[in-house]
Amino acid sequence: MQHGMNLAIVGSGYVGLVTGACFADVGHNVICVDNDPRKIESLRAGKVPIYEPGLEELIHRNVAAQRLRFTGSIKEGVDHSQIIFIAVPTPPQPDGSVDLSFIEKVAREIAGVLTDYRVIVDKSTVPVKTGEKVAESIRRYNRHGAKFDVVSNPEFLREGCAVADLMQPDRIVIGAQSEHAIDLMKKVYEPFMAPILVTDVNSAELIKHAANSFLALKISYINAVSAICEASGADIEKVADGIGMDRRIGRNFLNAGIGYGGSCFPKDIAAFITISEQLGVPFTLLKEVQRINAAQKDRFLKTIRDTLWVLREKHIAVWGLTFKPDTDDIRSSVAIDLVADMLREGAHVSVYDPKGMERACEVAAIKGARFCESALDAAEGAEALVISTEWSEFGNIDLAVVKEKMTTPIVFDGRNLFDPTTMAKVGFRYHSIGRAPLTPA
Ligand code: NAD
Repeated sequence: MQHGMNLAIVGSGYVGLVTGACFADVGHNVICVDNDPRKIESLRAGKVPIYEPGLEELIHRNVAAQRLRFTGSIKEGVDHSQIIFIAVPTPPQPDGSVDLSFIEKVAREIAGVLTDYRVIVDKSTVPVKTGEKVAESIRRYNRHGAKFDVVSNPEFLREGCAVADLMQPDRIVIGAQSEHAIDLMKKVYEPFMAPILVTDVNSAELIKHAANSFLALKISYINAVSAICEASGADIEKVADGIGMDRRIGRNFLNAGIGYGGSCFPKDIAAFITISEQLGVPFTLLKEVQRINAAQKDRFLKTIRDTLWVLREKHIAVWGLTFKPDTDDIRSSVAIDLVADMLREGAHVSVYDPKGMERACEVAAIKGARFCESALDAAEGAEALVISTEWSEFGNIDLAVVKEKMTTPIVFDGRNLFDPTTMAKVGFRYHSIGRAPLTPA
């Protein structure tokens, strides 16, 4: 690209920061805005506040090339940009509906400083029809009567491989009414050479909730099948392979485990259920998806209880606290819930995670755990080892050394990280998801 476009991203979190860095890397001039002064200070000092593979290097490279900078001022972002992306949180409320106050506040703030035509793009995950509300709000607070267009451009990145997902997306969805806004958005994404789907604003918003709900449905489907495997003696890994080899289905998202967590799936499924109810067409299938997900963790805990009999005073090691590998994100992590449950039952829990320790230390519900320096340190003296996140570091560990460290070599593998026969050969009593338990050979 000869001349980059001037872009602002409001909200410099997992989505905003990665988006800003990737936009800069393809040649755009990007200002990342955030209202957390510590975040801006740390970014300006060259310190990246989140862990995402490849992100730090990307940020440093583009800051050095003067294509990426950080500010606490929305006005600075709006003044210097043709397009303003909104990537602020849309957290769940207790009733499952979405808290849109962050979006509303940013819309109001942008409107207050708008003096010329701008495209305002919602990248946050929002309920269908939010774009209409954003436009209405901007019209109301638009003191200078500046022209603007509102676009929906949902983000599909996965934490843990967000940079790669941003750089080589499966598709870009642009929901807009105005041809001019669509042309500008196409220019932003031109360097990514990805398929672009142009829709109306409502459809773009709906695509995001429908896509995440479908992925969660796939996870709950295979988890429900895993329970049937356990009851019948079938092997979930073989069953998933057999299902997944059908190209109409595909093997992705057919990994049985202790359920989905994270900052997106639980909240997006709850939101989609609420949206469908508000529209008078309740999507009841998704309630079953939620039920199966919760039951999966409960079933896993029951296996632990059934095996250890009483958890009180048992020393249990837990490997993995983040909601998935290759991230430091522990938001709505099933692993954290598991640790909290075991602590409540009186177990002594020692935990280790390659990137999630700093954030996990702050979680009140697991304050009673012992936070360890390494996976082996956590396993020292343990009567059982629980694997709750499938970090490759755990998969590559010397199992014989782990066994030596433990008092009683019992493993509960909530992510099917290991091969049961290998585990039995090393001398573990091994429980996993949807596969028969094995005792030492
Ligand atoms: P995050 O909490 O990591 O980041 C949000 C950032 O916005 C924070 O740094 C916060 O300080 C900032 N912020 C809040 N209010 C602000 C304001 N008024 N002005 C400026 N900055 C403000 O959140 P996230 O994970 O990046 O998610 C953002 C949105 O993207 C959500 O709607 C989420 O559902 C969606 N999303 C997230 C992912 C993901 O994997 N995390 C993927 C796709 C979509």
